[in-house]
Order: sequence, then C-alpha cells, then structure tokens
Amino acid sequence: MASYIVLLGPPGVGKGTQAKILAERTGLPHISSGDLFRENMKNRTELGKRVQTYMDRGELVPDDLTIAMVEARLSKPDCRAGAILDGFPRTPAQAEALRKILAGHSADVQVVPFINAPADVLVERVSGRLTCRAQGHVYHQAFSRPKIAGKCDVDGSELFQREDDKAETVSRRIRVYMDQTSPLIDYYRAEGKLVEIDGTQSIEEVTAALEAAIRK
Ligand code: AMP
Repeated sequence: MASYIVLLGPPGVGKGTQAKILAERTGLPHISSGDLFRENMKNRTELGKRVQTYMDRGELVPDDLTIAMVEARLSKPDCRAGAILDGFPRTPAQAEALRKILAGHSADVQVVPFINAPADVLVERVSGRLTCRAQGHVYHQAFSRPKIAGKCDVDGSELFQREDDKAETVSRRIRVYMDQTSPLIDYYRAEGKLVEIDGTQSIEEVTAALEAAIRK
C-alpha cells in the first residue's frame, strides 16, 4: 500500500531536515511546497512571479495556486508508492484537497507526525538559518555551521538568509501558522492519524521518534 506521510508543525521546527532524512531512508520522494515555490521563483516562472510577494511577507500563497502545484507534483510516477509531504497541507481546504487527490489514486494519508516546539526555539532556529543558493541545503549560524563560512559543504555555493527567515518576518509566519495551519492538528487527530513528537530534541532523537511513528 502507498505511504503518504504528512509532516505537520510550525515553521523552523525541523520538518525540512527530517523530511530529507526520511526520504533517504524510505526511498519516498520529499515534497516540500516551499521548495517548489522557491524553485518557481528562481526560474522566474509565471507561478514564481505570482507567489513572490506572499512568500517574502511570510503569508500563505492562495489555496488554488498551492493545490494545483502540489497536485501536479503528486501525479508524477515517483509518487505512486507514496510521499513525504513537508509544508503541505497548511489550511483545512488544502487538507480536503489532498484527501481528494489521494482518493483519486485509491490512497489516503497514513500518518501525520506533528513535530512541535515553543515559539522562542522556533524564532532562534529560523532567524539563524542559512540556505544554499544552488540546492537549498540548510545550515544554522550557531548550531550547524558549514565547514567554510558562507559556503555550502555539499556543492560549494553561496549561503544566504531567506527573505522570509529575517527576524521581522519569522514571528508573522508563526502567527500565520497558529491562525491557519494549527486547525489541522485537530483535523488529523480526529482521524486518528496524529502522532505528537517533541521537536526540541536532537535531530537524531526526532528522526528515531518519526521512524517509530511511521512503522506503526
Ligand atoms: P516553507 O519553506 O514551508 O517555510 O514555506 C515558505 C513559504 O512558502 C510560506 O511562508 C508560504 O508563503 C509559502 N508556502 C509554502 N507552502 C505553502 C502552502 N502549503 N500553502 C500556502 N503557502 C505555502
């Protein structure tokens, strides 16, 4: 049976880091709506131009644009066996859309690990985050420094701070998450799919908790 896993949690809690690790270990594709939007912005596509202001401000991109983009990605053959969804769904309408999209492939969301941490931890993690220009590898000014300052260990490209990772925008993103995304906690809890994970633990501990949640 196909395994669709939705990683839920506030910005900066480590969903992206964990999704990459899980994707490597399970062989399932990592689908990050934020990465898909950033790729469109980098390539200056029509979609990229339309979403730039929402992203720079830390606001959500409208549901219709987001759902169409993720639906197109999920219809690719590499998603037949399942996927690790990171950053999608982010609103109840997106969760409903996902249910319908997967039903069209005779599948459903299996498990929703909900990784959580207090707001001060999130602000510290996001505002120190550095991202690589070429492929989006992620570092942190204090907790996960690159070997050479300002350069990605993997591909040597420049590290920069995402516009929406600047301190002024981070608290807005957390507020947006509280208002628009946190209702999904109850949505998936009611379906019996939610597994709560303490996101203040080390990367390795969170991965272990996620693997246990997925095995169940
Ligand atoms: P992320 O990389 O997941 O932190 O997403 C960065 C930004 O992309 C968000 O602040 C939104 O502007 C946009 N975005 C990503 N995923 C979604 C989504 N599912 N719905 C709406 N906007 C999104």
